[in-house]
Amino acid sequence: MLLRNLKLWDGVESDYSTEFDALRINEDGSLVLTTSDEVLVDETTQDLAGAYAIPGLIDAHIHLCLDPRESDPFAHGKVPESEQLKAMAERAYKMVCAGITSARDLGGGQWLELKIRDAIRSGEIQGPRLMCAGQPITSVQGHCHFWGGEAKDEISALSVLDRQVEKGVDLIKVMATGGNITPGSRPVDAQFDESVIQAIVQAANAQGFPVAAHCHGVDGIRNAAHAGVTTIEHCSWVGPDGWGKHYEPELARTIGQKGIWVSPTVNAGWGRHLGNERYVAAINARYQSMKAAGCRLIASTDAGIPNVFHEDLPKALGVFKAVAALSNLETLKSATSDCARALGLEAVTGRLADGLSADFLIFDQSPLDNLEVLENPSWIYAQGKQITGQ
Ligand SMILES: [Zn+2]
Repeated sequence: MLLRNLKLWDGVESDYSTEFDALRINEDGSLVLTTSDEVLVDETTQDLAGAYAIPGLIDAHIHLCLDPRESDPFAHGKVPESEQLKAMAERAYKMVCAGITSARDLGGGQWLELKIRDAIRSGEIQGPRLMCAGQPITSVQGHCHFWGGEAKDEISALSVLDRQVEKGVDLIKVMATGGNITPGSRPVDAQFDESVIQAIVQAANAQGFPVAAHCHGVDGIRNAAHAGVTTIEHCSWVGPDGWGKHYEPELARTIGQKGIWVSPTVNAGWGRHLGNERYVAAINARYQSMKAAGCRLIASTDAGIPNVFHEDLPKALGVFKAVAALSNLETLKSATSDCARALGLEAVTGRLADGLSADFLIFDQSPLDNLEVLENPSWIYAQGKQITGQ
């Protein structure tokens, strides 16, 4: 199949390609960039009349098992497994129909998201390519302890880690601080000493697994940064005076120097803050300082938590741009090529390039000029297949 007369943004460059204007989707689901006159013998072609193609979007932080309409974090665990799997498959389908062709699942209790991952991989159902963390390692009664990953010390933390590896996860998640949705847990509090996070990172990396660390409070951010995790989730700089009030430029430099990715989980709902000029000025200043310190940002939403819908990344990106003072180009890279690098998928997806998976979106208008366009893809390809339902 050859899609002709396209403007191609490869996920990296500052503008559409001047060299290529056609995409070939090979039988094996891989991409070739070419020109509209390079039609193969017997090849099916489609003229897209100057439409815009970009790589499929990636959400670096979701929870497929959580129902965003449910406020009780314990509720899903009481639903029969078959019903949960059905609901999770529906969420995955909605995601890919919104143009999210890859996502990282950062926690559940029963490894059901791994089953969905495998069913998508085998072509049994349609959804984004998933990277799954399984049960996050947390402290006793700590953040999301109801998922079963409680550990009282280093030895038990490593045994939780081993259990995830046995179940076939793609990465390890650790709750370096408390969080909002767990009664009794406080976002400001570090849940483990630096030495425990260090042991988790060493054990995970030695087996080829990256580590994502949930970090709201500054003490947890410090522990995770010093331990050299792969991604810091949320990075909320919470301290005794509140959210965002304990930003430490020196620690941001450490995060930048170590090449740790920051995944701020800005969802579409944050749009309600954008009318507050003082809030926007303060958060813009913080993100500008973090960027100047070398912190690399990736797009993420924490989809599944109350009122954060799995398919809403395209809506969230405009809000992320406003919150983190990004250009359209930076925002789009954070959800494509940069996100793929952070997730270890750079050789698979995140760019339009020869040999990569045919994960791409086509729009009538230019998303580089206006991010709102992202909410209305006219074509979606995921892993070489055109997604139905458009
Ligand atoms: Zn989360």
